[in-house]
Amino acid sequence: GDDDKKAHVVVLASPGMGHVTPLLELAKTLVLHLGFHVSFLAIPAEEASPAQIHLLRSPNLPPDLHVIDLPRAHVSSTLRHDMGVFSRLCVVVREALRFLPPFLNQNSVNALITDPFCLAAFDIFDDDDVSVPTYVFFTSSASLLALTFYLPTLDEMVVGDYSKISDEVRVPGCKPLPVEDLINDVLDRQVLPISNRLPTVAGILLNTWEELEPVTLRSFRETPFFLQIPIPPVYPIGPITKRDPEPAVKSSTSHANLISWLDKQPSCSVVYVSFGSGGTLSAEQTNELARGLELSGQRFVWVARPPAEANASGNFFNAGDEVEDPATYLEQGFRDRTEGVGMVISSWAPQEEVLRHPSIAGFLTHCGWNSLLESIVYGVPMIAWPMYNEQRMNARMLIEMGLAVKPEVGEGKRVVGWSEIEKVVRMIVEGEQGMLIRSRVREFQNSALRAFNNGSLACVANQWKVESGL
Ligand code: UDP
Repeated sequence: GDDDKKAHVVVLASPGMGHVTPLLELAKTLVLHLGFHVSFLAIPAEEASPAQIHLLRSPNLPPDLHVIDLPRAHVSSTLRHDMGVFSRLCVVVREALRFLPPFLNQNSVNALITDPFCLAAFDIFDDDDVSVPTYVFFTSSASLLALTFYLPTLDEMVVGDYSKISDEVRVPGCKPLPVEDLINDVLDRQVLPISNRLPTVAGILLNTWEELEPVTLRSFRETPFFLQIPIPPVYPIGPITKRDPEPAVKSSTSHANLISWLDKQPSCSVVYVSFGSGGTLSAEQTNELARGLELSGQRFVWVARPPAEANASGNFFNAGDEVEDPATYLEQGFRDRTEGVGMVISSWAPQEEVLRHPSIAGFLTHCGWNSLLESIVYGVPMIAWPMYNEQRMNARMLIEMGLAVKPEVGEGKRVVGWSEIEKVVRMIVEGEQGMLIRSRVREFQNSALRAFNNGSLACVANQWKVESGL
């Protein structure tokens, strides 16, 4: 059939909505717009999250996109509950990747595209186990990629804790990065395996574009440091974000109610509050947020989760799980007083549908890379609330570019207080600075659209066709 004549690309994704979402979107684009046949290899998490299952089982996936679950790895004995997200991912991915070489041997494959976490586990392979051209889809910023390339150098220069040496890290050709913004996984050198593998790949696809990160992208092409490594070709193919609403999760009535509630609100009047797939707040912070939202008097949609004290990424592997009803942890008075003004959604919202809705005025976000791209694509100004991973780097970029405002944790405080929250929420909806940020975001919305239409993915993808003689 037709399939035989199409080039075949394998996309390999580690668990987590922040990876699966953009990789699946990339796969769809290759199939729908560029005429490829794609096998999407999904790695089941310890317990596959409902949100991930929903995304990968969607009946709307195009026929030439085949989602294949790698067999579930039995790793529960190796996993400990105190492990961070990164360590847990590594264990799960390494186990599942044993099934990759047989798959590649049994199928004719023109290119393999994977995320950095899977790539880090490629050290389990011998040289000829993966003989197809391998590309990485780096699902975060060019800045984080630059830092990743720089880590082996930093590792040689600094013994022990980087933060003891200087208060910023200077990646050649890039803006200095304050040490306080760096992720723990960088500081304790857990990501070095990614750094060491990256120069060996055939190319790196980046979910960004020239106008969003001009300095860093230029430095990849011009700075001697990057030319000497040398780094593989970098292709800024972004923004790759969800474009079509998925059918509601398990015909979820709460999601349907949410959208019909939004339909009744004035345009540009609602703040959407969400901390990504994993984010959880302490009980104290949850209360301050509730109070701040209430006293702002503004309309809101809050994707709430039961408070968790120890771990800000408490929900990472359970995205979309049924969790405790917000009634059990939010004060009854709050819910009565905000009835009709605010909507509390438990655990998971159809974010793309919300952000594209004309009633949305702002997005209080944990600054995950996908969330901020989605916000820009729909022209929504942000309130930056970084929590873990590279989110502090992302938040700083947004502030510097005038795309977000950041609430401050007061001197000597552990949490952002209600009055600060009240202030930024009001400001983003009706303040003058909010208007400025909105018009700035809309400039970037246009720039995102131009970048999306400029065919940079087609350029690299066409190489795979040429190489395979198609
Ligand atoms: N997401 C969603 N509903 C939610 C929370 C998240 O649809 O309630 C989606 C969001 O649209 C984004 C992805 O999950 O595409 C989260 O990726 P991001 O990089 O923003 O953050 P992460 O979850 O990896 O921290």
